Amino acid sequence: MSGPRPVRAPRGTELSALGWQQEAALRMLQNNLDPEVAEHPDKLVVYGGTGKAARDWRSFDAMVRTLRTLKQDETMLVQSGRPVGVMQTHEWAPRVLIANSNLVGDWANWEEFRRLEQLGLTMYGQMTAGSWIYIGTQGILQGTYETFAAVAAKKFGGTLAGTITLTAGLGGMGGAQPLAVTMNDGVAICVDCDPRAIERRIEHRYLDVRADSLDHALRLAVEARDARRPLSIGLLGNAAELLPRMLEMGAPIDIVTDQTSAHDPLAYLPLGVDFDDMASYAAEKPADFTRRARESMARHVEAMVGFMDAGAEVFDYGNSIRGEAQLAGYDRAFDFPGFVPAYIRPLFCEGKGPFRWAALSGDAADIHKTDKAILDLFPENESLARWIKMAGERVHFQGLPARICWLGYGERDRAGERFNDMVASGELSAPLAIGRDHLDCGSVASPYRETEAMLDGSDAIADWPLLNAMVNVASGASWVSLHHGGGVGMGRSIHAGQVTVADGTPLAGEKIRRVLTNDPGMGVIRHVDAGYDRADEVADERGVRVPMREG
Ligand code: NAD
Repeated sequence: MSGPRPVRAPRGTELSALGWQQEAALRMLQNNLDPEVAEHPDKLVVYGGTGKAARDWRSFDAMVRTLRTLKQDETMLVQSGRPVGVMQTHEWAPRVLIANSNLVGDWANWEEFRRLEQLGLTMYGQMTAGSWIYIGTQGILQGTYETFAAVAAKKFGGTLAGTITLTAGLGGMGGAQPLAVTMNDGVAICVDCDPRAIERRIEHRYLDVRADSLDHALRLAVEARDARRPLSIGLLGNAAELLPRMLEMGAPIDIVTDQTSAHDPLAYLPLGVDFDDMASYAAEKPADFTRRARESMARHVEAMVGFMDAGAEVFDYGNSIRGEAQLAGYDRAFDFPGFVPAYIRPLFCEGKGPFRWAALSGDAADIHKTDKAILDLFPENESLARWIKMAGERVHFQGLPARICWLGYGERDRAGERFNDMVASGELSAPLAIGRDHLDCGSVASPYRETEAMLDGSDAIADWPLLNAMVNVASGASWVSLHHGGGVGMGRSIHAGQVTVADGTPLAGEKIRRVLTNDPGMGVIRHVDAGYDRADEVADERGVRVPMREG
């Protein structure tokens, strides 16, 4: 019988599938579940609360088996983590098509999702968990770094030196926060109720130290702040208890945000519940747990608003905590903005977003060579150069070596083609899987996050991610996914992903050119359509065709 076991992607150039496109999907599926990568691999959970790579172990085994025998003109269909069919297609078609967690509008809530999940009919795919392009905490690091850099630019003269950031959540994604703050020279206090999360971030060098108590954390923070020395401090406890206490004490906090798994009320520890009892309580009394978690989130958000009233820069970091607090009856929950309208949207107008790639060889040297190629391709981009240098020095690889950097329209295709040439020439020892987060410029509809406060009010229009998935299929991506509920939870988002394999062949080069042009192109046209001037400029400068602007 198939059951939990350690999973690790094979390395090197020996294929166990019939081609590199299939091999890449196979390795990236396995890599998502590598214990170095996944938060709870035994449960097939990769990150983001319960975001899974496969529905159950039998489905995982069936996907591995199928990918190994899948032909160059076949496509495997995956329905919420389970392989449900293999169809004859053609060599330009994706080798895998994935639909995760999708529910019909009126049924798109956690209650119905969990009922169906219990029946074994669906799974939560989060964003890159169920679409096999999660690369560990680094995947979110650059975006988090850029967000804190934008906070520094907006309010603190371009640096976080001399400031204290308070946040919670040191999980798969939230664990990027301490390093992103210290990379911007600031001090961070990061609360998490799971001692393992704190230890893991220290082990991976994302977090510097663990404090013994709240007082200890504040003392360390103030000392470092006064010396303008970067430092990140892990603090064990429940954020819904510690934030109000810190507010009451008048703790000198400059910036507040949060990345607990608030999008899923069964993954947020309610006040008065021991961490050790959390899983059993959530499983046994989900309705009760949800009510208490939401009430606790209301206290947590109330404290965030209190810090805002006291002058701190406060923003929601894309986990829906405002929405959950509002459901619990807290009416000032939306007084502070989400991070996208506050800092990220101008980048989306340029088609910029979290471009990433993984070395299927498993050889870190391949990534170092691609780092050099990026520096060589975009010498004028100083912040990119700073990022690539810092990442090279400070990012600990999890699983297959990988890199992320935000690139825009007209840049991603150049990088992808260069990478494909490097595979063809033998400079890289094996192909690369090139993909991105679903949190991208034109691939997601999520009114509490990526599409919050769109200029034309189109926040909830979900045609865009559907078009995005279709255009990526039509352009030759290696696998394409269409999900519901990632990031912010059931009923609150629809989003798409793509991965395209650079295997060094001319055909891969053709596909890469189209996919890596059209995919960020969706971001440009989406923002042109919504009325953003910057997107108009980008479309004009870089030749993006928008029929309504022609003639
Ligand atoms: P995760 O499940 O891996 O980690 C969540 C962490 O929160 C856990 O370590 C857990 O112990 C901790 N936690 C839960 N309740 C707590 C409480 N009451 N007090 C203190 N700690 C508590 O999730 P993740 O992958 O790190 O994602 C976190 C959230 O951020 C999710 O909602 C996710 O959707 C969102 N997210 C945001 C972005 C972004 O760019 N802003 C990107 C990805 C994910």
